[in-house]
Amino acid sequence: MSLALDLVVASRTLAEHGVIDAYGHASARSDTDPQRYYMARNLAPELVTEADIVELDLDSKPVAATGHALYNERFIHGEIYKARPDVQAIVHNHSHAVVPFSCTGCELKPIFHMAAFVGLGIPTWDIRDAQRGTDMLVRTAALGEHLARKLGKHPAVLMRGHGSTVVAENLQRAVGRTIYLDVNARMQLDAAQLAGGQRNIVFMDDAEVAANVSWQNYERSWELWKRKALAKLAAERG
Ligand SMILES: [Zn+2]
Repeated sequence: MSLALDLVVASRTLAEHGVIDAYGHASARSDTDPQRYYMARNLAPELVTEADIVELDLDSKPVAATGHALYNERFIHGEIYKARPDVQAIVHNHSHAVVPFSCTGCELKPIFHMAAFVGLGIPTWDIRDAQRGTDMLVRTAALGEHLARKLGKHPAVLMRGHGSTVVAENLQRAVGRTIYLDVNARMQLDAAQLAGGQRNIVFMDDAEVAANVSWQNYERSWELWKRKALAKLAAERG
């Protein structure tokens, strides 16, 4: 399966899980040129087909002329690919469950095994540290570079009052992490309500996190998501 088709599957899967709606986007580094990456043109992710996938350089400029508009926030992707040679896939999203953790000082912690990667640490980026008075969107390379610096070596970064950006060594892991980051946020809020605060929640410890993240690749999930997305795509094409 081509990387373009994988991106179609990723976009539709993230939309189906309500993690991205008409906004948010997934990308994958080119498997033939690490100085380039693929993402959809400016389109609701649920509508993306292979024909909508555009190739960009790491300055987030399209490699070939395209008559289509591109995502305003594509600089998130290009600048992270520059800063993190290990990253092969990125998802930027506005998960409603995650945003409250971006603006309250309440730290996201790994509450269950499918989101063990949360235990690797998720910093929060405040766009005001880079520029004041923005519309909150990462519309420039300078803002993208600033965000990439806050991400550092971590698997994700929260963006205050906006959402998050999740990275991984492959696309299925980036998609899985994004979906389970959203689930983790909801579970953590539920647990805090049950327990009367975060103090009484037992989170995964560092050894458990390390034992899980070494292998967790969301493979069974990816096979399922792929089959469902491709079936839907085939039905649309009649
Ligand atoms: Zn955004």
